[in-house]
Amino acid sequence: MNTQTVFEEDKEYIAGTYRRFPVAFQSGEGAVLTDAEGKRYLDFGSGIAVNIFGVNDEAWKQAVIAQVNQIQHTSNLYYTQPQVELAKLLCEKTGAKQVFFGNRGAEANECAIKVARKYSSDRYGAGRHEIVTLKNSFHGRTIATLSATGQEAFHRYFGPFLEGFSYAEPNLASTLSCMTDKTCAVMIELVQGESGVRKLDEDYVKALERVCRERDILLIVDEVQTGNGRTGYLYAYEAYGIAPDIVTTAKGLGGGLPLGACMLFAKTEQVLGPGAHGSTFGGNPVACAGAVSILSRLDEPLFLEVRGKSAYLRALLSKIGGVEEVTGMGLMIGLALKEKKAADVAAKCLEKGLLVLTAHERVRLLPPLTVTKDEIDAAVKILSEVIGA
Ligand SMILES: *Cc1c(COP(=O)(O)O)cnc(C)c1O
Repeated sequence: MNTQTVFEEDKEYIAGTYRRFPVAFQSGEGAVLTDAEGKRYLDFGSGIAVNIFGVNDEAWKQAVIAQVNQIQHTSNLYYTQPQVELAKLLCEKTGAKQVFFGNRGAEANECAIKVARKYSSDRYGAGRHEIVTLKNSFHGRTIATLSATGQEAFHRYFGPFLEGFSYAEPNLASTLSCMTDKTCAVMIELVQGESGVRKLDEDYVKALERVCRERDILLIVDEVQTGNGRTGYLYAYEAYGIAPDIVTTAKGLGGGLPLGACMLFAKTEQVLGPGAHGSTFGGNPVACAGAVSILSRLDEPLFLEVRGKSAYLRALLSKIGGVEEVTGMGLMIGLALKEKKAADVAAKCLEKGLLVLTAHERVRLLPPLTVTKDEIDAAVKILSEVIGA
């Protein structure tokens, strides 16, 4: 099929939910993707924070192939070794007590919402079910996670949404004013990804943790995007020095296969029992075998490398005349622009062979964690040309 046919038949046969860039990729290596015509692109999006070690990652590929050669799926009525291995690794690396596996970020967050409500129902009876989230948050596309998402634009067409969510500004006064005696949880992203790569204030997050603990309100941290080394830490909450009750993750964890995890810490470990939750594909052995390969390579030397590359990249970006502000953490970076529109910049970068993302009115960069200094230099050169003075 030639590329033009792919574009046309996509338009004809696929529900029109995506505003796609006009390119169809065929292969790649590391941070370089190649389209059907052989044109090469530098990938500063990683499939939205998924391909941590780039494409064609040999170790992940071998782990996946080995599992495919054994068994591809069994259902959660039976035990599988890769699922247990991955859960154990996650718990050992984070201090979580137990893990529930789903297939994506939204599903991990659905699980977190259910656990928070059940925790509260077990302890306090029905009715204490409210959850406070933040304005400009993004927690997923299912009805419950859309309800949790604090953006008006997502609260159209599909109502009625779930009741019991309120949306605070990212400061303590606003969050306190959203809490009632029915609040069972607060859910936050430490760096809000989809709404512009905005990092939460450390004092606010620490104070929020204290208030939650005092009132037995669960603190849920959505690390679907910030997790798995992206911010220069295994999970961003470590950088904040807090101890959440539930941490959700997905995107980078599966190395390119669908996988989400809801990590339950001391308070929440016994909440889910037989029949309380489930997923046909969740914790699929192939996805888990790949994730074990990913997670076991996420270590301190890599995090130091990520922080170093981040500092180097940010310093270069802040010198570009048309850039107003560089935000974010680790290799999750936002660019506020003085005049140019983020969408125009992304389209121009594509023409010049650089893939970048947008997040609201900002350019968003999420390169593979293994991106090289030369690749960073090449990307910055294109961004400077496009954004200009
Ligand atoms: C991407 C994202 C989600 C949704 O993940 P899906 O895998 O698309 O369901 C949820 N929360 C955050 C913070 C995200 O970045």
